[in-house]
Amino acid sequence: MSRAFDVGLESLSALVANPAPANGPNQSPTVAPADGGKSFFIETFGCQMNDHDSEKVSGVLLGRGYRAVESPAQANLVLYNTCSIREKAAQKVFARLGDWKTTSNGKIIGVLGCLAQQEGEEIFERAPWVSLVCGSASYRRLPDLITDLESGGRRVTGLDLDTDETFETEITRRDNPFRAYLTIIEGCDYSCSYCVVPHTRGPERSRSSDSVLAEVRRLADAGYTEIQLLGQTVNSYRDPSPRKWNFVNLLQAVAAVPGIRRVRFTTSHPNDFTREIVEAIDSTPALCDHIHLPVQSGSTRVLGAMRRTYTREQYLEKIEWIRSARRPISLTTDIIIGFPGETETDFEETLSLLSAIQSDGVFAFKYSPRPNTPARDWPDAVPEEEKGRRLAILQEHQRRIQIANNELLIGKEFEVLVDARHSARDQWAGRTTSNRILNFTSPHGNLLGEYVQARITRGGPNSLVGEQLL
Ligand code: SAM
Ligand code: SF4
Repeated sequence: MSRAFDVGLESLSALVANPAPANGPNQSPTVAPADGGKSFFIETFGCQMNDHDSEKVSGVLLGRGYRAVESPAQANLVLYNTCSIREKAAQKVFARLGDWKTTSNGKIIGVLGCLAQQEGEEIFERAPWVSLVCGSASYRRLPDLITDLESGGRRVTGLDLDTDETFETEITRRDNPFRAYLTIIEGCDYSCSYCVVPHTRGPERSRSSDSVLAEVRRLADAGYTEIQLLGQTVNSYRDPSPRKWNFVNLLQAVAAVPGIRRVRFTTSHPNDFTREIVEAIDSTPALCDHIHLPVQSGSTRVLGAMRRTYTREQYLEKIEWIRSARRPISLTTDIIIGFPGETETDFEETLSLLSAIQSDGVFAFKYSPRPNTPARDWPDAVPEEEKGRRLAILQEHQRRIQIANNELLIGKEFEVLVDARHSARDQWAGRTTSNRILNFTSPHGNLLGEYVQARITRGGPNSLVGEQLL
């Protein structure tokens, strides 16, 4: 997958190497000592929702006396939380499973997540040493499934998609010490013609506002100041409780929790993106000034074939709302390149849309045909080589936009939540509320986890350079 313009994710891996304790940054570690030598290792593929699902699955295991270990070799339970959004992601998981063909003796190997749901019991056929296959819609059954495994179950599955429940845990092992993830809506009720998510994550279901707010208060008490609300279509949120809050009601309530300084949310679907969301950001300083609004294509014809439920013009109208906010709001988007039937003219419309919206980041993906999706067998496939050519053109086009955008920020001041140290460059790094990466110098000692003010001195395509204001 192309991450060339990722302004949102790349420092996470560094943070995961140094995880926070189960209950947050201010708590002492609660990783329980092994009970009877029960230990687990979980590797996560794919999106932030998967990262956070793994945090919750780890919480379930810690609550049952398992101990987290640092490598699969040390663990007696090895879990892969998988992604199947593109073919490459799925291949990677099968390659990992292949590693255990002759060496799994004594270990329990499990496959969780989207690939588990997509392939189901077929995984046992391809990798007979696997004992657990469980999709995300069945995670609430994990304690029972683990009990089955502990009592010798050989092929245990959780593959039911027909649910209106969400996955809530008493303990969540939080791997990011600075930003707490919180899923407010699971599944997806859209049916984009290229996408596996409705088949792998099941129907849309929102978590009650009371339960979300209770968790935010717990996170604030534990010392977290930044919350990221998650959902495949986060802004389709509909409170199932009698309060019947919409997404904006929930956003404002989360932002009002004492101790919370930053609230982010991802991913928004353009169809459910309202003016009220922009107004809420404008009037609520704790709501971060960044919106990730995937467009997928700049051609209305291709959007129709993708079943995206909006036109180029409707998307541009929503961008106009964002651009006319009183507070500058940073925008990022996703693009799929080489969807079946995408012509050179369609592709040029995508480039012209990117020029029009001037986004600060683009996640661009070559179209990958997926099982159980209508587009899989459509004619007029774009050859791989041509997809590669278009991707390179788009990346260069967007690189220039980002360099120009970032140069305009030179001399401006931003608040940064510091989340990394680059010793070799003698720089600290963090995120602005607009989710830009800012690397800066400072004469001060340990700044990790601090909010500081910095002035921009230089702008590159993917990040900013600056100095702390003293
Ligand atoms: N729900 C979000 C939305 O509607 O925009 C997107 C969630 S999806 C997990 C993340 C991104 O993966 C999509 O925005 C799309 O760009 C990309 N994607 C999904 N299916 C794909 C496919 N078959 N081939 C290539 N990219 C794909
Ligand atoms: Fe996939 Fe479309 Fe649902 Fe997003 S809205 S998760 S792209 S089906």
